[in-house]
Amino acid sequence: MNRRQAAVRRLLKTLPPRVKGFLPEIEGMRLYELAREAGRLGPCLEIGSYCGKSTIYLGLGCRQAGTVLYSIDHHRGSEEHQPGQEYHDPDLFDPQTGLMDSFREFRKTLSLADIEDTVVPIVAPSAVAARFWATPLSLVFIDGGHSLEAAMTDYTCWATHVAAGGYLAIHDIFPDPARGGQAPYTIYKLAVASGLFEELPMVETLGVLRRVCGRAAGGGSGT
Ligand code: MG
Repeated sequence: MNRRQAAVRRLLKTLPPRVKGFLPEIEGMRLYELAREAGRLGPCLEIGSYCGKSTIYLGLGCRQAGTVLYSIDHHRGSEEHQPGQEYHDPDLFDPQTGLMDSFREFRKTLSLADIEDTVVPIVAPSAVAARFWATPLSLVFIDGGHSLEAAMTDYTCWATHVAAGGYLAIHDIFPDPARGGQAPYTIYKLAVASGLFEELPMVETLGVLRRVCGRAAGGGSGT
């Protein structure tokens, strides 16, 4: 292992535990491996960067692959981050605007991980960022809002941009409804049913699908 690789390994080990977020190390390391491999095909993209915990793993993988990571978040918090909700963090509440603001923390994480030359932050709702998107992506990681509406928007806006051989990864998959919300699992099942993706082994709650060749979803009746 050369010195640069050793420095990456050290960052992967020490930085994520210091960053706010909800991604276990084993899932993060899978994202790192996927980005490092897929990144050779083209840029990667994540939806729901929050304070940048997943961005560390994906960004370091992209940097090693010589590509970039587009990182989308409006940084106003998902439903569950708002005041009074289960995952609200008062540190991220901006009293001046009366809104959540995770962008400052996110920028700090990019600097600490030394990935400012790799990550392109897009501070916008996912549907707005997608409006004129035309670049094929080697990996799309969906970890945005967990309402059915938000998850469906992320899926319909971005899944079609995954290039053949690329990956669609979805966080917080709970096949058992007693263990967690069903929106991410719903879009995971839609992706499988589309015939455009093959399932790879899950890592904890991280679903991983690989885009196979073939026609677009719903396209081409063959007549
Ligand atoms: Mg998540």
